[in-house]
Amino acid sequence: MTQTVDKKVLVVGAGIMGHGIAHGFITKGYRVTLVDIREEALTKARAAIDNIVQGGVRLGKMAAEDAFSVMGRLHTATDVEVAAEGADLVVETVVESIDVKLDIVRAVEHRLAPGAIFATNTSALSVTEIAGGAKDASRVVGMHFFNPVHKMKLIEIIAGLSTSQETLTAARAYGAALGKTSIVVNDSPGLTTSRMSALMGNEAMCMLAEGTASAEDIDTALRLGFNHPMGPLELGDLTGWDTRLKVLQYLHQTLGDKFRPSPLILRMVKAGRIGRKAGAGVYRYDDAGQKIPGSGLKASAL
Ligand code: NAD
Repeated sequence: MTQTVDKKVLVVGAGIMGHGIAHGFITKGYRVTLVDIREEALTKARAAIDNIVQGGVRLGKMAAEDAFSVMGRLHTATDVEVAAEGADLVVETVVESIDVKLDIVRAVEHRLAPGAIFATNTSALSVTEIAGGAKDASRVVGMHFFNPVHKMKLIEIIAGLSTSQETLTAARAYGAALGKTSIVVNDSPGLTTSRMSALMGNEAMCMLAEGTASAEDIDTALRLGFNHPMGPLELGDLTGWDTRLKVLQYLHQTLGDKFRPSPLILRMVKAGRIGRKAGAGVYRYDDAGQKIPGSGLKASAL
């Protein structure tokens, strides 16, 4: 049985990434408070975490009594300032908006335990800019997790301009405690990974809109031709086109025209077809979140 670690983790934002990150920490013994402004998001996140934990029990990776103590380490809250009291690590994973992220840094910094670090899970924004909201920017770092968190091995650690060596070391240690491999990158728009995948996903959407091939065939091309585990359109559905659009807009603004978002992404976001979390993106999904075969957007409909 995993022993409880004497460290308190605050995960802010209970969406796709927040529930996965909270799950990672509670299974490794950390006490986690997961915060969201929407009660509904917290209820959904708790159910999603329980589902992953129970899946582990079914696969024999965890004993049923351990599952009970693991879930007992998870707390939820809507008031971020109160929940931050005495936290050793904050992972903010709210929407990809600089203003919202700055609000979180400002709200929690004065409540944390001595020596605490503040990590942002931003996909593309500047860690240095987010750290601008803190009184002590040396304790702010990027910890970029991957989706789905319980399956993906990488954490991209981002050093902002003022991030201290101690903070980077602490971030790496948290990554190792979660069983992840970390790389350290300098603060740069889109880091290493989001910059690549945003470009590829955008190009796939341009090809879909131009009628180059069907959604299914574009995804099959990348899966079987390049051995990617998922096609770029399936991956965009998993990530969420709302998040992908924000990333592309930021990269367009900072790195130039090659990141101009495909008009199809803008239309899909306006239509609420933002991906798997909404039940429809490029593909449609059933109530269990499974892709419905043959449901890919048809070029004739675009
Ligand atoms: P999401 O839309 O699924 O969830 C965001 C959550 O933040 C929502 O539940 C929302 O209610 C909550 N929120 C908004 N404002 C808040 C506030 N002030 N306080 C507390 N909660 C608030 O988004 P996501 O896909 O989980 O992305 C979150 C972050 O993680 C973004 O910065 C994104 O770029 C990054 N990220 C996403 C992925 C991915 O594949 N989706 C991968 C890596 C990193």
